[in-house]
Amino acid sequence: MNNLFDLTGRVAVVTGGGRGIGRDIARTLAGAGAELAIAELDPGTAQDCANELRENGHSALAVETDVRRADSVEQMTRRVMDEFGKIDILVCNAGIARNSLVENTPDDEWREIMSINVDGVFYCCRAVGRRMLERGSGAIVNIASMSGSIVNKPQPQAAYNASKAAVIMLTKSMAAEWAQRGVRVNSVSPGYISTEMTRRGMENDDWRRTWMEMIPMGRLGTPMEIAHAVWYLASDAASYATGTDLIVDGGYTSW
Ligand code: NDP
Repeated sequence: MNNLFDLTGRVAVVTGGGRGIGRDIARTLAGAGAELAIAELDPGTAQDCANELRENGHSALAVETDVRRADSVEQMTRRVMDEFGKIDILVCNAGIARNSLVENTPDDEWREIMSINVDGVFYCCRAVGRRMLERGSGAIVNIASMSGSIVNKPQPQAAYNASKAAVIMLTKSMAAEWAQRGVRVNSVSPGYISTEMTRRGMENDDWRRTWMEMIPMGRLGTPMEIAHAVWYLASDAASYATGTDLIVDGGYTSW
């Protein structure tokens, strides 16, 4: 039987692949056989990730990219096309979270969240999606969040929640537009995952206690547990899946 999870010969781009969840997504896709481009704001962590993948025998390229800027995303796309000749898989993972009450949220904080979490996903999907449509083939996985479907407790994060709801709806809209042109678009929505993003919250006794009470599994997820869900949606095993939002949250949204 064919191994539908095999990614040998595929080219994958992971935004924000230098650390956190993105780094384990890069490791997982490379481990499945893909050639990787790490599109990351910090050239140091991007290079570090690419070096690690190469040391493990994989093909990898670091591309300094600011997903907030359409010109930077276009440059990254051209660089990957020049290097590998095609892009089969795009994972839009770069994202930030902030915790402010709505009435105290400054304009620049709102804009910063929207520009990375929403504009960034749109620019990357548009630039890479164009190349995928030309070839009539591709799989896009956007990292949304359970916060796109529920309101977290107890921390305030309205802008983040709204940005992730936008990612889920943008994903569905692109999936519908491109479904008959060979390009699948899905999202993975993590619950609380052990990365830099959740570290501050875990150090706050009130937040940590509430989070643990509200997660049926009673623990944070690992970045690898998100990477495996991305692997599925990026692979041929998910050939009939498009426009779906795969929630991986230890049961959080079940209650
Ligand atoms: P981290 O903060 O650990 O990593 C975020 C990554 O995004 C970093 O590599 C960062 O690069 C990159 N990034 C930030 N801004 C830009 C930019 N302008 N251009 C390119 N890259 C950028 O976060 P996580 O790994 O925890 O989160 C990854 C994704 O998962 C995010 O979209 C997040 O919203 C989502 N998520 C995370 C959850 C969690 O509990 N951790 C829960 C639900 C969703 P740099 O190092 O240069 O800053």
